Amino acid sequence: ATAGNLFTVTSPNVVYTDSTIESKYTYRTTSVTAGADGRYTAVPKETLYDFKTERAVPKTGLMLVGWGGNNGSTVTAGIIANRRGLTWDTREGPRAANYYGSIVMGSTLKLGTDAATNRDVNIPFHDVLPMVHPNDLVIGGWDISGLNLAESMDRAAVLEPTLKQMVRKEMAEMRPLPSIYYPDFIAANQEDRADNILPGSKAEWAHVEKLRTDIRDFKATNGLDKVIVLWTANTERFADIIEGVNDTAENLLASIKNGHEEVAPSTVFAVASILENAPFINGSPQNTFVPGAIALAEQHNAFIGGDDFKSGQTKMKSALVDFLINAGIRLTSIASYNHLGNNDGKNLSSQRQFRSKEISKSNVVDDMVEANTVLYKPGEKPDHTVVIKYMPAVGDNKRALDEYYAEIFLGGHQTISLFNVCEDSLLASPLIIDLVLIGEMMTRIQWRSSGEGEYKSFHSVLSVLSYMLKAPLTPPGTPVVNALAKQRAALTNIFRACVGLEPESDMTLEHKLF
Ligand code: NAD
Repeated sequence: ATAGNLFTVTSPNVVYTDSTIESKYTYRTTSVTAGADGRYTAVPKETLYDFKTERAVPKTGLMLVGWGGNNGSTVTAGIIANRRGLTWDTREGPRAANYYGSIVMGSTLKLGTDAATNRDVNIPFHDVLPMVHPNDLVIGGWDISGLNLAESMDRAAVLEPTLKQMVRKEMAEMRPLPSIYYPDFIAANQEDRADNILPGSKAEWAHVEKLRTDIRDFKATNGLDKVIVLWTANTERFADIIEGVNDTAENLLASIKNGHEEVAPSTVFAVASILENAPFINGSPQNTFVPGAIALAEQHNAFIGGDDFKSGQTKMKSALVDFLINAGIRLTSIASYNHLGNNDGKNLSSQRQFRSKEISKSNVVDDMVEANTVLYKPGEKPDHTVVIKYMPAVGDNKRALDEYYAEIFLGGHQTISLFNVCEDSLLASPLIIDLVLIGEMMTRIQWRSSGEGEYKSFHSVLSVLSYMLKAPLTPPGTPVVNALAKQRAALTNIFRACVGLEPESDMTLEHKLF
């Protein structure tokens, strides 16, 4: 079956046309009012929406900022290996290309129950809506290091030599475009690889224009319908939020034109992408999306998403803490140590860049703690510490050591120690693919209040990407959800709504009431 053609929904609320899937969807929520006596009144509420999904799968390009890094070279080699269906020898026997670790390509969801047997029918996530296949992505991008992709894959030291041999020729022909390098934003220890850079060491409008031209040229040269830009370059330091500089869209644009020192390269990339209407996703922790950048995206109805891939330690944390607190166990501290030996670790050995990562890793349990008013008083939180050390010998095989310390029944304690060896780039690469595929899909989904007026897009800030991100960016003023299970449910249920299906409630009454 081609994408989105594995099933059809037969319902008066769903219409398939040649170009669209249209659904009428009843969104059922509960509206709560608190009385003066501290009691709540809960009222079921229904909101009617129309969703319209474009069926034609666009030819899509992915431009990576930091293409020559560990993630950039690994995801590129991985897609080539999948596209060509490669099998390579390892000391444990032959291994074949796959997309394990991608929620879109490697996981399923329950479509419903078999009419004859009442058993679950599960389908690949990729088949719920007509999504781009990663094998069809055209890849390009920028790097401040001029090595070709074969050389950068060697430098990354992630892949088996036998696999590298099979993709080397194709990779060697790929060379990153020169990028913008503002040395103040990344660690000084990165300077020796910066040999592929555009003139100028702080923001300037010519940089925005050059990046826009790069996106347009890439699109034209490869005959693409759409380009997604994703930052997988070094972690930058945080930019100061300064009134009059980066607080509004107009001020941000003026600051780039005036060469203000406080505009980060990632923000310049975001601005160029927004102006080209190319969705821009930030895989690193820094505050690329200063208020002015978010406002600019809203003005242009352009899509943005971020921040910071959630691959190893934090993914475990957002699953485990969700479980512990929802189990009624009072988590009292989390101590997280990491050591890693790749270039990311080298960059993070510098204090200001580490600080970006520390912030990103620190707020990830807040929503789960706040939600449990039985275990925690307002404002009360578990102690939470994050340490990262650079240890060259372990390379890309990051070590994450976590201790979760919790209070249980009658003053007892539960201590969970985790030792998680995260093959960093092999965990991050499938997340890049998910961010791109889901981000692209969201550009083809529109909604309106049922029957009323013009269809419009989702909000510019794609919080639906939260599952893949450590510090999810949400539309201004809206809450952040870190709990992994909720993030997955939001994603799958929004996709289901687009084909007129109810959220999967897991009540399975058919197995309980008969
Ligand atoms: P890396 O250091 O191997 O790659 C980053 C690349 O970006 C390098 O090739 C560097 O030359 C390039 N670069 C730096 N500044 C640039 C600029 N201004 N323009 C273009 N290129 C630039 O790092 P990595 O392991 O591939 O990780 C990439 C990013 O993803 C890091 O910020 C890291 O913190 C983040 N991240 C990674 C993981 C993971 O790998 N599991 C998880 C979460 C976040």
